[in-house]
Amino acid sequence: KREGRNRVEVFTAAMGAALVDRARMTADLAQAIENDELRMVYQPLVDTGRGIVIGAEALMRWQSPTRGNVRPDEFIPIAEESGQIIELGDWAIRQVVQQAVEWDVTGRDLKIGVNVSGLQLRPAFVETVRDLLAQSGLEPARLILELTESGLVDDDHRISLIGLLRDLGVTVAIDDFGTGYSSLSYLRRLPIDILKIDRSFINELHDQRNAAVAKTIIDLTRTLSLDCVAEGIETEEQLSQLQALGCQSVQGYLFAKPMEAQELMAFVAGFGATAVLG
Ligand code: C2E
Ligand code: MG
Ligand code: MG
Ligand code: MG
Repeated sequence: KREGRNRVEVFTAAMGAALVDRARMTADLAQAIENDELRMVYQPLVDTGRGIVIGAEALMRWQSPTRGNVRPDEFIPIAEESGQIIELGDWAIRQVVQQAVEWDVTGRDLKIGVNVSGLQLRPAFVETVRDLLAQSGLEPARLILELTESGLVDDDHRISLIGLLRDLGVTVAIDDFGTGYSSLSYLRRLPIDILKIDRSFINELHDQRNAAVAKTIIDLTRTLSLDCVAEGIETEEQLSQLQALGCQSVQGYLFAKPMEAQELMAFVAGFGATAVLG
């Protein structure tokens, strides 16, 4: 009994420390937007069939004066817990739409993806997207909203909001596909355009079981008339495997890591038939 009690105390202390950490992170994050500590970087999306860059995914970066570079995998979950994701997400989509319009003057109609947390799926977000599209004149289909399965599962309200977004003409992608719990019947009901195969399957494509999962997802996109994007391509072997399976749109370090906005145009221009695509 006594041991049990001690154990409870230890657990409580650890929890307390975690709570303090989270509270500090939340406070720092509140300063981040105001003090311009956030920025978006862009990872090229390549069409291997045509050998060109067709778009980019925007990824958030936080350069904190006290913490240094904080990874989104660390701060996005905290922002989701605190509710700050609403403000961060709003800021992100404004940045991204503005950036897409700036790139328009170069005459390249790049698609531009932005990650959207399930918690952002509220009527106000639909209004924000509607307003941004109207103000900017951006062709709606060029804006890709990336949602994860976990943000959607069994939530009819969110699914109907995705329908409203899609009615605006934007493109909707399910990110990290294969890691969530989507049932096939549920997937069929979702108003979406793209499945992004999770990096974990691409990572281990040499493993037959992972290759089989990747193939199944690619076949599924064909059956459901969706587009397929593979993320996390690091080797030429992975690339040729995916090409053989019929997935043409890819992202990964093999082509480029996420880069600053001002670097992307030079990358796009210089891409052409690079060595990698043969
Ligand atoms: P994600 O949307 O699935 O983004 C892909 C992640 O894989 C990015 O990590 C990207 O830098 C990384 N990646 C791309 N190619 C490769 C590769 O070849 N090898 C490896 N090892 N990694 C690769 P990042 O930028 O750290 O973002 C992590 C996650 O944080 C994202 O996963 C997304 O879920 C979330 N996130 C990032 N920015 C935002 C944002 O603005 N809003 C929201 N809600 N979430 C975001
Ligand atoms: Mg994404
Ligand atoms: Mg992903
Ligand atoms: Mg992810």
